[in-house]
Amino acid sequence: MTADSSIAAPGTDYAATASEAYRAALKVIESVEPRIAEATRQELADQRDSLKLIASENYASPAVLLTMGTWFSDKYAEGTIGHRFYAACQNVDTVEALAAEHARELFGAPYAYAQPHSGIDANLVAFWAILATRVEAPGLAELGAKHVNDLSEADWETLRAKLGNQRLLGMSLDTGGHLTHGFRPNISGKMFHQRSYGTDAQTGLIDYDAVRAAAKEFKPLILVAGYSAYPRRVNFAKMREIADEVGATLMVDMAHFAGLVAGKVFTGDEDPVPHAHVTTTTTHKSLRGPRGGLVLATEEYAPAVDKGCPMVLGGPLSHVMAAKAVALAEARQPAFREYAQAVADNAQSLAEGFTSRGARLVTGGTDNHLVLLDVTSFGLTGRQAESALLDAGVVTNRNAIPADPNGAWYTSGIRFGTPALTTRGFGAAEFDKVAELVVEVLSNTQAEGTSKAKYATADGVAARVHAASSEMLAANPLYPGLTLS
Ligand SMILES: *Cc1c(COP(=O)(O)O)cnc(C)c1O
Repeated sequence: MTADSSIAAPGTDYAATASEAYRAALKVIESVEPRIAEATRQELADQRDSLKLIASENYASPAVLLTMGTWFSDKYAEGTIGHRFYAACQNVDTVEALAAEHARELFGAPYAYAQPHSGIDANLVAFWAILATRVEAPGLAELGAKHVNDLSEADWETLRAKLGNQRLLGMSLDTGGHLTHGFRPNISGKMFHQRSYGTDAQTGLIDYDAVRAAAKEFKPLILVAGYSAYPRRVNFAKMREIADEVGATLMVDMAHFAGLVAGKVFTGDEDPVPHAHVTTTTTHKSLRGPRGGLVLATEEYAPAVDKGCPMVLGGPLSHVMAAKAVALAEARQPAFREYAQAVADNAQSLAEGFTSRGARLVTGGTDNHLVLLDVTSFGLTGRQAESALLDAGVVTNRNAIPADPNGAWYTSGIRFGTPALTTRGFGAAEFDKVAELVVEVLSNTQAEGTSKAKYATADGVAARVHAASSEMLAANPLYPGLTLS
């Protein structure tokens, strides 16, 4: 890792200038609500001292963060660029147009929509845009005057039938799909007749023939590809082939791996954008931007996506769209490609660190930014492993593994991701050390009796691991040179 692939230093006095900005901002906040200023300081201190391995988190640059704290937050701008339901939106137009332009250029997409407030919002916009493009929808009046929250299962059935019995085929939650890909309790599982595809029971990999067979039988309107916890690349060209064979729209949710697409680690068949009709993403995960979402679309779907407001969204978060523009400008720099490659290389190192120490990984390894460790071989549930690691200052999240024997709450897996610590400058050696520390904690932790939650770690282990990780963190500081006092 070279210094310029981190968020550290676009200019020599960058850290000093950012420090000044944050000190001033905290002083202003302090004058109104000192406890918020204090919590803000504490959050930085805590983030600086934690080994953040949560695969969906990252650290945005001070430029991105500072962009969010402006008066753009005060502006209403419902509508689209140049066509707003509110007056005096000329500067929001500039911001949204730039965010969309950077997104189109970065991802090579014909159209980009920068308004979604989050990944879930981006998916809702995409779902409704696909329905609006492909299905003759009835007016709401036809459905009666009920509030959607009051709809019974039978009402939903009627609603779906009226909308053309739309079907959605997505990756199952336990093999790495997201809850917006048709999970029953989520709106996506209610709007659509839903079915899931999983992974091969032996290899843990997506079996494209099985996806094709499911698609042929189920005939989905939408085929969703993308994941939150699948440690492998996906062949989106094949997914598109399958979608075309059954007349489905291919929607790819690249929320997790957008940074690897932006950084050209995923190209050709692994780049979803040229293959999908509609691509959605978050901007705050591997893409390292502000908390938000984006929708990319082909010309065919663009007009419907552009109606995200008022279809799904209200007023856009103009301050966040501005920060998206800044983050996307950063991602178009050559340094971001180095970063993205380092994220993938570091995941390899982490995975090898685990397997060389005898730990079992779902699919046996990784070729993206995340690693899914099966903790059953340590005699633990995901919940116990997550807690024991947290005691040692290692922040991860428990995650179901395919056909999880402990269910979605306790789980049997721990998901690790490299985007955040790579931003801090961790390289292959540090990630091998991370694997060593994790294995040290887990192999010294035991379940208490038959409990799926209680555990005990051998004396001294958590403290020793915490000290070793603090040393690595100190050598790779978060926001180097940024001081609040
Ligand atoms: C994180 C994630 C989302 C949701 O993003 P939010 O910003 O939390 O709403 C959607 N899809 C996938 C695949 C994700 O990983």
